[in-house]
Amino acid sequence: MIDAHIHLDQYADIEETIQQWQEAGIEAVVAVSTDLRSSYRTLELKQRFPTFIYAAIGFHPEQPLPNQADWNEWTRLLQQERQHLAAIGEVGLPYYSAEAVSHFPYYRDLFEQITQLAVDTSLPLAIHAVYDRAQTALTILQKYKATKAHFHWLKANPVLVQQIIQCGYYISVTPEVCYRKRDRQLLSHVPIEQLLLETDGPWPFDGPFTDVPTSPLLLSYSLQAVASFYRQDIATIRASIVTNTRKLYK
Ligand SMILES: [Zn+2]
Repeated sequence: MIDAHIHLDQYADIEETIQQWQEAGIEAVVAVSTDLRSSYRTLELKQRFPTFIYAAIGFHPEQPLPNQADWNEWTRLLQQERQHLAAIGEVGLPYYSAEAVSHFPYYRDLFEQITQLAVDTSLPLAIHAVYDRAQTALTILQKYKATKAHFHWLKANPVLVQQIIQCGYYISVTPEVCYRKRDRQLLSHVPIEQLLLETDGPWPFDGPFTDVPTSPLLLSYSLQAVASFYRQDIATIRASIVTNTRKLYK
């Protein structure tokens, strides 16, 4: 399996941790970044585990905006490290942080600039944009003719989900798919060809995963839930999801 969205830079004892995951059948992870420092850390990890990591660099939209110096350095880094990158992310639009939301137009402008950079560098976008923010993000993607995007942990109304699907973008579900009705409703609008699985680790989950540290090992439970939802066997669904993830993130 491949974890399509994880904050690998936030894990400790990385050597042993990755080894454990590999022994359990995890083939790769898409490691996203949250700011300039995190982007450097992800690139460093990519250097150490080149075949296991698909590296993405970006500025998380629920955090303070980057200052001019960080932004300039990050755009230089993007050009310089282009050949080691699989995506730009985690980027998008704020929803949960009241402070970020109060400066929404600046975040929207930043996301527009980043979308243009993604198009220029032919990189996919790993997007954080939930509820109505997904509509704004979709409008921006269309404006800049961005063809490759992944709406991670999407929460949106069915009409919007269908629009995202029609545009050919990917959608992922987290281990919440094992215990939340909302995720199953989402799946009913997502063809298997456009579905990815992620953990957003180390973010903690509830339900059966309360007090279980989040890692790509949880993907096997998501896989079971998704296979039973699509009424297909686990091996078929696993193969489809791995293919989808590799196709987007190469
Ligand atoms: Zn994330």
